[in-house]
Amino acid sequence: MGEFTLELNDDQKQVRDWLHGFAADVMRPAAAEWDEREETPWPIIQEAAKLGIYSLDFYAQQFFDPTGLGIPMAMEELFWGDAGIALSIVGTGLAAVGVLANGTEEQIGTWVPQMYGDANDVKVAAFCSSEPDAGSDVASMRTRAVYDEAKDEWVLNGTKTWATNGGIANVHVVVAVVDPELGSKGHASFIVPPATPGLSQGQKFQKHGIRASHTAEVVLEDVRIPGSCLLGGKDKLDERLARAREKARSGGGERVKNAAMATFEASRPAVGAMAVGTARAAYEVALDYARTRVQFGRPIIENQGVAFQLADMATQIDAARLLVWRASWMATAGKPFTHAEGSMSKLYASEVAKSVTAQAIQILGGNGYTREYPVERMHRDAAIYTIFEGTSEIQRMVISRALAK
Ligand SMILES: Cc1cc2nc3c(=O)[nH]c(=O)nc-3n(C[C@H](O)[C@H](O)[C@H](O)COP(=O)(O)OP(=O)(O)OC[C@H]3O[C@@H](n4cnc5c(N)ncnc54)[C@H](O)[C@@H]3O)c2cc1C
Repeated sequence: MGEFTLELNDDQKQVRDWLHGFAADVMRPAAAEWDEREETPWPIIQEAAKLGIYSLDFYAQQFFDPTGLGIPMAMEELFWGDAGIALSIVGTGLAAVGVLANGTEEQIGTWVPQMYGDANDVKVAAFCSSEPDAGSDVASMRTRAVYDEAKDEWVLNGTKTWATNGGIANVHVVVAVVDPELGSKGHASFIVPPATPGLSQGQKFQKHGIRASHTAEVVLEDVRIPGSCLLGGKDKLDERLARAREKARSGGGERVKNAAMATFEASRPAVGAMAVGTARAAYEVALDYARTRVQFGRPIIENQGVAFQLADMATQIDAARLLVWRASWMATAGKPFTHAEGSMSKLYASEVAKSVTAQAIQILGGNGYTREYPVERMHRDAAIYTIFEGTSEIQRMVISRALAK
């Protein structure tokens, strides 16, 4: 595994510049339009697929980058371009990580390519864990998976909500309860293959921000899937459940990781990197504006009140990036998050994005409050980072529990 480094290597710099070009030339000019349309920007996903930015190969290359910096660097650049469009491009990655974290090699090889499709026929994927009564409280999940031994099939029933790409995905990864006695340790992840009867889209949500990204309920009614769609396989599940039952009997606590948590742990620093991208985008607009906007005979940046805000914004963005890079490197190097470093990075970067984008509006004055300038959209977009993949309160809970151990 690579040593921790703050320096991108030449290959990474090249990829960063390439992504930056796409973000600046393709995403940024289209951002306001897709925000207003509140629709998945298929033509832009297709363009990204043609260039190789929306592809399993590209994602895997960044995911397996030994320095751990591939994913955070890519996320920061794409979300710098536009958060809603970027989430439409990388949302499939959350489902892919669900399979990479819990699936067998065969399952990874079969299903992950189908999540992306190809440049002529792009597809997206969805990761469905949240439910109307099980958001932060994942253990309250009700969607049930029952094994039909005679047919070697699983039968899924329940309602998922808030699923990015839910209902429009080619492949859905669904977390469901296999043993209700075990709380969150009795969950498992399943692949629902394309066009499986019984899976349908419920309500599509109209959102405050990241409006180009599709978010919807997913309804599962007697959805029958082959036994091979249980991620990790039946033997592994049976072993894991037996261990969890033994621990529950002996009162030894529950150290067996549940399926959704394994996915979130891997993806939290990536969400932190998205937040850094949005924060940096708003900061750059504000800096540029402060240098050129003249009031009282001089650029407003010459007032310490404005300059100090920008100094704090720049410092916080760099600090957030450092936390994100540390956590990403640790995850890649196989170092356990003993102090909840993944949660720290997501908590800090998401709060920074909310505050920096709000300050950017202030620095732009009346213009900042209008849709003529991008910072009000960036502020609406930034609000998601403190909510999805575990709210800020839940991150604080995870961090404080790690400290108390
Ligand atoms: C745009 C969008 C996209 C999403 N994409 C996906 C997706 O692709 N897949 C998926 O599975 N989910 C997805 N989610 C769901 C997201 O992860 C949940 O919204 C999030 O986990 C919070 O759950 P909740 O909305 O039910 O809020 P709740 O859990 O009801 O929380 C409400 C408030 O109470 C606070 N709170 C709850 N419990 C505690 C506690 N113990 N201590 C202190 N405060 C607490 C929370 O922090 C929050 O402020 C998405 C959500 C959104 C909005």
